[in-house]
Amino acid sequence: MPIKIEDYYARDTFQKMKAFADQQETPFVVIDKQTIADSYDQLVSCFPFAKIYYAVKANPAIEITELLRDKGSNFDIASIYELDKVMSAGVAAERISYGNTIKKARDIRYFYEKGVRLFATDSEADLRNIAKAAPGAKIYVRILTEGSNSADWPLSRKFGCNPDMALDLLILAKQLGLVPYGISFHVGSQQRDIDVWDAAIAKVKVIFERLKEEDGITLQMINMGGGFPANYIARTNSLETYAEEIIRFLKEDFGDELPEIILEPGRSLIANAGILVSEVVLVARKSRTAVERWVYTDVGKFSGLIETMDESIKFPIWTEKKGEMEEVIIAGPTCDSADIMYENYKYGLPLNLASGDRLYWFSTGAYTTSYSAVEFNGFPPLKAFYI
Ligand SMILES: *Cc1c(COP(=O)(O)O)cnc(C)c1O
Repeated sequence: MPIKIEDYYARDTFQKMKAFADQQETPFVVIDKQTIADSYDQLVSCFPFAKIYYAVKANPAIEITELLRDKGSNFDIASIYELDKVMSAGVAAERISYGNTIKKARDIRYFYEKGVRLFATDSEADLRNIAKAAPGAKIYVRILTEGSNSADWPLSRKFGCNPDMALDLLILAKQLGLVPYGISFHVGSQQRDIDVWDAAIAKVKVIFERLKEEDGITLQMINMGGGFPANYIARTNSLETYAEEIIRFLKEDFGDELPEIILEPGRSLIANAGILVSEVVLVARKSRTAVERWVYTDVGKFSGLIETMDESIKFPIWTEKKGEMEEVIIAGPTCDSADIMYENYKYGLPLNLASGDRLYWFSTGAYTTSYSAVEFNGFPPLKAFYI
C-alpha cells in the first residue's frame, strides 16, 4: 500500500521540507523545528502537571537543545559529553538529571561539580559511588518493568532493578546521606500497549507505601520515562489517549495529590519532525527468474537506520514514482551483509523505480543522526539540516 503523506505531515510542512530537500544532495535528514515545538506543546497540554526532561540521546543537535531550552524543557543526560553540550547551550544544572544508571565514579563527580543534583541508580555499587562523589544528591531508583513484547524498541532488561531491591537502595541512600527522592521506570521505546504503564505505576505505589510505613521515608517523585509513540507504519493510539489512560492510572493509585511527575520523551517529541532522504543506487534481481527485486539505497543501517535492526522500527517510505507496486528487499550501500533494512517485512515500491530516484523515509527525526557511524566504508555520518 502506498504511503499517504497526509497521514504523517501537514501538507504545508511537507511542502516546505520537500522544497528544502530538493536543493540538497542525498543522503541527509531534514528536521522541521516547528514540528518539534508543536509536539512539545502537545505533550505539555496532555500532561500539564508534569516536568519534561528531554532524552538528549534521541537527537543531541544544538538546534533542538536550544529550541527546547527556550520552551522551558529540562534535560535527561546520559554522559559527560551530553552534559557539556547541553550546558554549553546555557542550560542550568538545575534543569538536568543524570539518568544513566551505568556510570563511572569520576563522571558522577564531574556532574556534581557542574551542579547537577538529581541522579538515577539501580545498583548498590553505583549508589555508593554517588554517595561519595555527589554527597547529598537526590536519588531516584529505576525499577524493571514488563512490556518488552509490546515495545518496538525495548529498553527494560538492561536497566532497572526489582522493586524489593529498589526499597533496599532507597533505605541505603538515606543512610548514606543522600535524599531518597523517587522511582523511575521506562516501559520500552515505541510502547504500543498503554496498560504497561498501569502495571508500572502500581509497582511504584507499593514502593511508596512500604517505604512510608516501614521506614518513614516519603518519596516525592515518579519519573515515568519515555516510550510514547511516533508515527511509523504500524499505527498507534494518539498521545491524547495515552495521556488520558496514564493519568487515570496515576489517580487510581495516588488520588488527586500526585507526587512530582517527570516525563522523559525522546522519540515522540522528535521523530515526526524528520524526513530522511536517500537515493536509489541500484535495483537488481539475483537470478533470471527471481520474483523479488533488491533496492540498494545510499543510506543504510550504518548511516542512520540502525533501528531497522531485526526490522524493529518500520519507517514509512514514500516515493514520487507512481504505478504498479512490487515487493522489494531494501538494503544499504556498505560492504556488510548486515546492512539490509527490510527483508522479512515486505515493502512495496513501484516497478518503475530506478537508480537516481529518491526515497523519503518518514518519521526519522529521532535516533538516526545520533546512531550514525562515523566512517564505515568511508561513508560520512548522516548529514542533518534543521529548518
Ligand atoms: C532513551 C531514554 C528515554 C527516551 O525514550 P523514548 O522512548 O525515546 O521516548 C527516556 N529515558 C531514559 C532513561 C532513556 O534511556
